Amino acid sequence: MMTLSTTIDLEKTLAGLDLDDRLRLIAETGRPAVLTTSLGIEDQVLTAAIAMARLPIRIVTLDTGRLFDETSQLIDDTEQRFNITIERYTPDAQAVAGYIVEYGKNGFYESVEARHACCHVRKLEPLARALDGMSYWVTGLRRGQSGNRASTPFAEDDPARHLTKINPLADWSIEDVRAFAEEHDVPLNPLHARGYPSIGCEPCTRAVKPGEPERAGRWWWENDAKRECGLHVAGAAR
Ligand code: SF4
Repeated sequence: MMTLSTTIDLEKTLAGLDLDDRLRLIAETGRPAVLTTSLGIEDQVLTAAIAMARLPIRIVTLDTGRLFDETSQLIDDTEQRFNITIERYTPDAQAVAGYIVEYGKNGFYESVEARHACCHVRKLEPLARALDGMSYWVTGLRRGQSGNRASTPFAEDDPARHLTKINPLADWSIEDVRAFAEEHDVPLNPLHARGYPSIGCEPCTRAVKPGEPERAGRWWWENDAKRECGLHVAGAAR
């Protein structure tokens, strides 16, 4: 088992490695690690890299019940392509029913509070279950995705979740991501080619216009400062 000292050391070490070695370093610590995938192109690249190297890193997706059909199909296709299992975490049925009673099925359009409540039930609570007991949480965050993500590090402590978050693609451009996907024949969501660089739940994602930021199509009716679901907000309660 490899031991890594501080997150600052880990940040420096990861910065000097390529993608394979970044992932291998985490796997070789011998501590439990998980990738959460939304099946977007960055997560597909990470899934491919983990699968091709047969690294002991779990691959998990949050099946919110509101995904695009294309995304659901891609989960199956990716499992077949790489001969892997993608663990599906679904929301608690009673919590979903309670949300619908209180806000309505699509109540998230009405207020930021209602939207956060939906993301909490359908994403954050299942995420908490998926991350339980993990030491490392691998994500596809990149600095180029949005202003909110411009300072994404390779490694950061998430004290509320008692783990270290690892962002192996932090310094990759979208062109780097596309080149890797093409080189390794990684299956991609067909929605990317229809103007969706970032894909979440179907009712909360629209195509972006030329020149718009990559995440402009997520919760487009809200202002930019609030446009995260809380998954990647350190210490978020929701
Ligand atoms: S992205 Fe939209 S549908 Fe999905 S959990 Fe959040 S508010 Fe609900």
